[in-house]
Amino acid sequence: MKRIIIIPIGKVNPEFLRTISSATGHKFHTKAEVGRKMSIPPDSYNVLRKQYNAVAVLKEMISYKQRAGDSLLGIVDIDLYASRFNYVLGEADPNAGVAVISLWRLRQEFYGLPGDKDLLKERAAKEAIHELGHVYGLDHCPDPECIMYFSNRISDTDKKGPGFCDICQEMLGL
Ligand SMILES: [Zn+2]
Ligand SMILES: [Zn+2]
Repeated sequence: MKRIIIIPIGKVNPEFLRTISSATGHKFHTKAEVGRKMSIPPDSYNVLRKQYNAVAVLKEMISYKQRAGDSLLGIVDIDLYASRFNYVLGEADPNAGVAVISLWRLRQEFYGLPGDKDLLKERAAKEAIHELGHVYGLDHCPDPECIMYFSNRISDTDKKGPGFCDICQEMLGL
C-alpha cells in the first residue's frame, strides 16, 4: 500500500499535522501518518532573499523515505521560494515522490488580517492535497474549482474546492 507520510520540518504546530494527515489520507484513500521530524536544512536558506529554497528542502527529504512506494509530504512554517517564483506555497518532485507545503503565506496574519485557525487548516489541507496530487502524477488543471488549479495567490486557493474535478479524479484512478 502506498502510504502518505507527513514530515514536520522545523517547528510546526502538531494540530496542523493531524488535520493534514486526516485530510490527505481520506482524499487519496490510503493510510496517512506523521513520520519522523526533520530539521530545516541550513543550506536551503538564501541570505539575500531571506527565504528557503523549496528544492533544497525536497532534496533533503528524500533520505527520510523508508519505503520506495511512500509519498512524503513535508510541512514547514518558513517562507519558501523556487528559482522561477518569488515564493511558492508548495513544491513537489513527483519522480522522487516527495512534496512540501509552507504554512507561512496561508495565514491571514501574513496579509495583515486577524488570524483564522479554521481557514488556515482548510488552506493547508488544500495545498497538501494539491502537492500530493503532483506526486500521484497529476499536472495543473485549467478548472479554477479543481484542487489541481495552480494557486498563484491565496485567493486562488480559497476559490478552489478541496476535491479533484472529474477529469483529474479519473486520471488519479482512485
Ligand atoms: Zn501545483
Ligand atoms: Zn482538475
